[in-house]
Amino acid sequence: MRIVVVGGGVIGLLTAVDCVRAGAQVDLVEQAAIPSPSATSYDQHRVVRTLHRGEQPLSLAAAGLHEAWVETERRLGGRFYYRSGVLTVLAAPDVESELAVLNQAGVPVRALTGRELSERCPQLRGFTSRQPAVLEPAAGTVRADRALLAAARWLRGHPAVRVHSHRRVTRVAESASVVLADGGVLSGDSVVVAAGPWSRELLPAGLSEGLTLKRQTMLSYTPSSFPAAWSRSPAVLGLGATRDAWLMPPVAGTPVRLSAASACRTVAELTDRQTPAEWRTHLIRRFSTVLAAFDPAAVTGATEGYYLTDEAGQGPLLVQLGDGVWAFAACGGMSFKFGPVLARTLADRALGRTPGLTGLTSVDQPRQLTADRPGTT
Ligand SMILES: Cc1cc2nc3c(=O)[nH]c(=O)nc-3n(C[C@H](O)[C@H](O)[C@H](O)COP(=O)(O)OP(=O)(O)OC[C@H]3O[C@@H](n4cnc5c(N)ncnc54)[C@H](O)[C@@H]3O)c2cc1C
Repeated sequence: MRIVVVGGGVIGLLTAVDCVRAGAQVDLVEQAAIPSPSATSYDQHRVVRTLHRGEQPLSLAAAGLHEAWVETERRLGGRFYYRSGVLTVLAAPDVESELAVLNQAGVPVRALTGRELSERCPQLRGFTSRQPAVLEPAAGTVRADRALLAAARWLRGHPAVRVHSHRRVTRVAESASVVLADGGVLSGDSVVVAAGPWSRELLPAGLSEGLTLKRQTMLSYTPSSFPAAWSRSPAVLGLGATRDAWLMPPVAGTPVRLSAASACRTVAELTDRQTPAEWRTHLIRRFSTVLAAFDPAAVTGATEGYYLTDEAGQGPLLVQLGDGVWAFAACGGMSFKFGPVLARTLADRALGRTPGLTGLTSVDQPRQLTADRPGTT
């Protein structure tokens, strides 16, 4: 079979790898370099965790992801998955139910009291002795840029792959072909579109209008205080009075990354990547109450990321655009970790195999579009 994969982010690259491993010929098309530094996936850290607070189905779906990343690293070669552990600070009434979900998921977990939390992570502040948290010791952090480079290298070295970098797709036809900005056309038995936050440009209006573009600021932080604690720090979620702040730990030479849901806003268009001063200041204010000895001068940079969500504001969303034409229409703000399982199910669909289930309803029950009713379910 010949499969056309549009997009060189984590989803497109891993889908292409899975299609090739199944014996298919693949055309991989990307509007920029492969991998592209402007892809949402191309960042220093992406956290792989099981616990998604208050979202039991998501937590259960995430149960096997650590193993999936270990296997992805083994398959592609290179070193990009670090078992940093992930710590989630919880509201006391939620501890029992979240622990029950993690036990059901079969994930090793440790409950910590506020006192243990303070001892283990002296670089964090503001915990009372009764503040509970759960630690997933086996959870990890992906050096996302390195994972993408490893996948790109694997694909480039394979004779079944034709790589089309710097070629933009302008139209996806229902007949399993794509039209390129340079006038070229690529046809296959199936097409998989994984265009991340740019997806709306390639989808029927009735569908793209229901998708929401989000933009989020992240700070890079290189602290000089608590060096030992930072060097063994897990990723931490649930920080701050509103429990929406998080940090990604320093892995393989990276700075700490700091952000919060409060630094995520809805925007009309994908534009620049300059961090507005107000959002930088917002996060500095937030983290001055969350980190002990917080030093604004140790904020060494700020980055902007974009992602697309479905109407409910969650994503991800899989859509069938035609016979053998699939679009990972909304990547959402938490799909990187699901990359290996999303790729497997997209490859299954493209190859006409029974799709492996991901546990994500919006992927396992894709929206079907028909020509006469674009955008409908
Ligand atoms: C600040 C932030 C933090 C995040 N943290 C996490 C996390 O810790 N864990 C987690 O699991 N997820 C996280 N996410 C979400 C995750 O990064 C995304 O869901 C995921 O990376 C999306 O991957 P993708 O391959 O779908 O899209 P992308 O990585 O954006 O790739 C899409 C590719 O398609 C190409 N493309 C687009 N249009 C065209 C076209 N017309 N023709 C050709 N090529 C095209 C683009 O150039 C791009 O390279 C985070 C997101 C943000 C913004």
